[in-house]
Amino acid sequence: MIQVDKNLCPHNHVCPLIRICPVGAISQDAEGYPVVDHELCIECEECVRTCFKKAMVSTDE
Ligand code: SF4
Repeated sequence: MIQVDKNLCPHNHVCPLIRICPVGAISQDAEGYPVVDHELCIECEECVRTCFKKAMVSTDE
């Protein structure tokens, strides 16, 4: 499961991962944090590789 590390995400910009997710699973909440729709996510980990803050984390859950 892909999760957001809120300690690493600066949540002060338009999240670039919204555009790179191939299935449109990422949106952004009112505070600017990315939100992953786990129903849509195929766990390709493109967001994990792309995030320059390393704030997207793949977990075993
Ligand atoms: S792992 Fe892939 S499908 Fe899932 S949110 Fe990240 S980019 Fe989108």
